[in-house]
Amino acid sequence: MVVIDDSGVKSYPFAMNEKKASCIFEYIYFARPDSVIDGQSVHDARFMMGRVLAREAKFKGDIVISVPDSGTTAATGYAYESGIPFVEGLIKNRYIGRTFIQPTQKKRDTSVKLKLNAIRSVVAGKSVIMVDDSIVRGTTSGKIVNMLKQAGAKEVHMCISSPPIGYPCYYGIDTSVRKELIAATKSVEEIREFIGADSLHFISLEGLKSCVSEVNADDMCYACFNSAYPIADGEKPAGDSKYVFEQRKK
Ligand code: SF4
Repeated sequence: MVVIDDSGVKSYPFAMNEKKASCIFEYIYFARPDSVIDGQSVHDARFMMGRVLAREAKFKGDIVISVPDSGTTAATGYAYESGIPFVEGLIKNRYIGRTFIQPTQKKRDTSVKLKLNAIRSVVAGKSVIMVDDSIVRGTTSGKIVNMLKQAGAKEVHMCISSPPIGYPCYYGIDTSVRKELIAATKSVEEIREFIGADSLHFISLEGLKSCVSEVNADDMCYACFNSAYPIADGEKPAGDSKYVFEQRKK
């Protein structure tokens, strides 16, 4: 409980102190990079994810670019670790919302086109290492790779600062239906082929855990990567998170 009064802001715990399972995606994608959650800087975690990606993937290229904005901090970490320069190869239209949260595929397709544009003078003829935070359905990533190739990129090597999302989230994040998750049915090589990238690397789960060194790794939820749901409800219905929430409301 947070109380705001004339004396300032105070926070009081009021529930039982049971096992924590904070969403790791706050550090990967949701939170603002200038946030500090449970003592862990989101910026520092994302920067480390980029450094770990560079160590794990070892991709060589001419430039590192990000899918703005959520991939940018990790991309700067990749550049720092690898010594390959970070440049802006994609520009975001800041008036369009987040793509994977759009409710229908048609809306998601339209938003990608409206949302991003490749800078030809930056990427043409280059071997491009592109850093993004996640691949959910794969359609957005495929469009971005295609956009870069259309703008003349010689190669696109994609690095993802989350492990493959193979399981739905039952706790309110709209990656609800397992059959829509590309990593639920395809191997990394099949995903690479689907999105048209020249290579593809997802950060390892252990590598990801090492990036949030200020929090206890056991206090986090990683269920969409490893299906270790922190509460029993998450294990039951094979499908739609909305089902779970409807059941709870009843
Ligand atoms: S399943 Fe994934 S998105 Fe959902 S709370 Fe756990 S880590 Fe976060």
